[in-house]
Amino acid sequence: MIDRLGRKVTYLRVSVTDRCNFRCTYCTLPASPRGLLTVEELDRIVRVAGSLGIVKIRLTGGEPTVRREIVEITRRTARVPGIREVVMTSNGSRLRDLARPLKEAGLKGINVSLDSLDPERFRTLTHGGDLAAVLDGIEAAREAGIERIKVNAVVVGGMNDDEVLAFADFAGKTGIEARFIEYMPTRRGEARGWTVPYTVLLDRLAESFTLSPLQAYADGGPAERFRIEETGAVVGFIHAMSNPFCERCNRLRVTPDGRIRSCLLTGGEVDFMAALRSGAGDEEIASLFRKAGDLKPAVYELHRLDELDMRAVGG
Ligand code: SAM
Ligand code: SF4
Repeated sequence: MIDRLGRKVTYLRVSVTDRCNFRCTYCTLPASPRGLLTVEELDRIVRVAGSLGIVKIRLTGGEPTVRREIVEITRRTARVPGIREVVMTSNGSRLRDLARPLKEAGLKGINVSLDSLDPERFRTLTHGGDLAAVLDGIEAAREAGIERIKVNAVVVGGMNDDEVLAFADFAGKTGIEARFIEYMPTRRGEARGWTVPYTVLLDRLAESFTLSPLQAYADGGPAERFRIEETGAVVGFIHAMSNPFCERCNRLRVTPDGRIRSCLLTGGEVDFMAALRSGAGDEEIASLFRKAGDLKPAVYELHRLDELDMRAVGG
């Protein structure tokens, strides 16, 4: 699928639930009242997406691992013709039990969100999360043989921006890529000083280490990546705020309650729940996907960020 600006859309982020067992400081908004897509409906949507040239699916949420059928959803998604890889974004808290069944179901990669390596601070940032369980979950993912594991930290000014070196150290010791995500202001994010431009973090790392730029991912992933020569660690920056990457955006999003969202931030969405539940054929669903593709904005509009509900759109 090619959007009206010529961008090839090959990547679909599917939010399978708006529920979560954490309440991260920047991500606590009410759940949708409309209910969730069923496992069969998710399967159908992915099949139509696969027929339109989507090759990569990321399961997200809310917290995808709190959805009871997550292993079944992963298995069915991985079997869809055209889908080359199924990956997940998770807070990692339930991976000790789920990593192996998810791997067996076909999960190829997992990004674990981890905003602090200090147990007390982690507990505060997540409203009760247990850092040890998350680290154990990452270890379980490794033991299970999940191929690509990364850690993502949303950097919030005054809360965890002093941990950049600690994350670089973690990346060096574990061989797991650590990525720093610029905080995007949401309705609750009245404190706009929370966004720390990635260049500030980069400079901080460069004071201690030699950084060599790495090539971007072949699949068009947005992270700008560097190797730390002294330790071999790989770190990345996702700078949607200070340096948007909209011109190479290749993605659409499905919300847990049956909408296709054209952009994380702005650009509008297409509701397909009614079509799905009133017996629409695949061609009708496909045309809704194309419509959402054409709603993708050239560049998102920052002034609308206050409307962002991260749990509904899956990050
Ligand atoms: N629960 C899962 C997790 O935390 O990884 C998946 C959903 S979560 C909404 C997806 C990603 O969005 C997480 O990495 C989270 O840190 C990030 N996120 C949430 N709110 C954000 C914000 N305001 N700015 C930047 N990233 C945000
Ligand atoms: Fe839950 Fe992920 Fe939001 Fe944190 S960022 S509250 S783990 S959905």
